[in-house]
Amino acid sequence: DIAYHMHPYTNAITHASQGPLVITGGDGIYVIDENGKKYIEAMAGLWSVAVGFSEQRLVDAATRQMQALPFYHLFTHKTHEAAVRFAKTLIDLAPVPMSKVFFTNSGSEANDTVMKLVWYRSNALGLPNKKKLIARNKGYHGVTIASASLTGLPGNHKGFDLPLDRVLHTTCPHYWREGKDGETEEEFATRMAADLEALILKEGPDTVAAFFAEPVMGAGGVIVPPKTYWEKIQAVLNKYDVLLVADEVICGFGRTGKMFASETYNIKPDVMVLSKQISSSYQPLSAILLNSRMFDPIADESNKLGVLGHGFTAGGHPVAVAVGQENVNIIRERNLVQNASETGAHLQQRLAGLSDHPLVGEVRGVGLMGAIEFVADREKKTRFAPHLTVGARVSKAARNGGLIARAMPHGDILGFAPPLVTTKAEVDEIIAIAEAAVRSVMDDLVQAGEKI
Ligand code: PLP
Repeated sequence: DIAYHMHPYTNAITHASQGPLVITGGDGIYVIDENGKKYIEAMAGLWSVAVGFSEQRLVDAATRQMQALPFYHLFTHKTHEAAVRFAKTLIDLAPVPMSKVFFTNSGSEANDTVMKLVWYRSNALGLPNKKKLIARNKGYHGVTIASASLTGLPGNHKGFDLPLDRVLHTTCPHYWREGKDGETEEEFATRMAADLEALILKEGPDTVAAFFAEPVMGAGGVIVPPKTYWEKIQAVLNKYDVLLVADEVICGFGRTGKMFASETYNIKPDVMVLSKQISSSYQPLSAILLNSRMFDPIADESNKLGVLGHGFTAGGHPVAVAVGQENVNIIRERNLVQNASETGAHLQQRLAGLSDHPLVGEVRGVGLMGAIEFVADREKKTRFAPHLTVGARVSKAARNGGLIARAMPHGDILGFAPPLVTTKAEVDEIIAIAEAAVRSVMDDLVQAGEKI
C-alpha cells in the first residue's frame, strides 16, 4: 500500500531483500520503525544529526521563529535578523578569515552555487578561459547536474550524460587501495600532488579555476587523507593560483574531532561548503563561506552588471537558520566537538580491533566517522564478487541486530558516523552488533562454500 519513493543508491538485490524501512520516531541516538523496533542510528541519518533525534531545543527554536517570522527572503537588498545572526556566527566560527556567507538549502545546491560563483569571478577578473574545475575520483559533492559532475563516483554519472566537460577528476588519495608496493604514505601523498600538478599542466594552468575536495571523503568510503597530503596539495594549488573549495558538508561541525576538518588537516580554503550537521538536518540548510579573494571580484562584477543573478527562494529560510543557530549553540555548550574527539578515539580503537577478522581488508576513520572495507583476500585486496553483496548483507544483519550502518553504494564498505552525542558505552554497543553481523555473514559465506 506504500507509495514507494525511488530509492537512490539502493542496489536492486538489497532493495528486494530489505524492502523499505519505515521510520516513525527518534529518541537520542536511536530511531524507531513502524513496528516499534529501535535501532542505533550509527550514521546519524546521513552523517547529519549531531545532537540526536529528539532535541527539544531545536523544536522550540523552530516554533519561536515560526511565530516571530515564518518566512522572509534575502533578495533585492532585504534580509532578516535570523540570517544575519547566523551568518555572523559562522564567520566567527570559521578557522580562516572569511568575508561573506551565502545560504542555500542542500549540499548539492551549495556546490552548484560555488561552481557558478567561481566562473563569475573568473569573468570578473578578465580571465574567461579560467573555468575548469578539478575534483577527485570517489569524491562526493552532490547530484545536481553541476555538483554531480564534481562527484567522482561512476554511479552518479552513468546514464546521466555526466560529468560536464569543464569538470576534471584527479586521483583518489586512498593509500591502502591506491598505494604502490613499497611506497610510504608520504611518498604516496607526494605522488597524489604530482598527479594534480600534471593534470593542471596538461590542461594549462590558465584554464584551471578551482579544486573541490572533502577534507575526508565521506560517501566515497570514509577515505582519510594520507600524511602530508593536504600540505602538498595546497602547495600545488598556490603555485598555479587555483582556488581551494573545502566541501565540509560531512566533516563540518565536529565530525572529525575539531569544529572543522580544515582545522584537523591545516587546510586554508578560499571557500567552505557547510550543511548537514549545521542544523543537525532538522531543517534543510547549507551555507557557503567565501573569503575576500573569492568574494571581492564577484562584488565588483555584480556592481558592473547591476545584479548578481543568483539565489533561492528558501535560501537562508528563517526557520532553518534559527534551528542552525540553536544547533550550533548546543554543540558548543555541550562540548560535542570534544566528545567527538574523545568518543571518536574510542570508536577508532574499537574499529581497529576488527581489523584481524578474515573478511576485513581495512578499517579506517577519524573522529566520529569510520568504515570497514571487506575483501575476499586481504593480502591481494581482492574484492568480493559483486553478486555476493557482502557489504549490503553485513548492513542487513546489523539492522536485524538493531544497528543502522551504511553499506556504501560501491565496494563492500560499511560506514559509521554516529551522532556527536554518542557515548563510549554506545560505541561499544555499535561495535558488538557490527561484529556479530560480520561473523554471521562470514558463517553464511562459508556455508555457501565461498572461499574466504
Ligand atoms: N557534499 C558532500 C561532502 C556530501 O556528503 C553531500 C551529501 O551527502 C553533498 C555534498 C550533497 O548534499 P545534499 O544531499 O544535501 O545535496
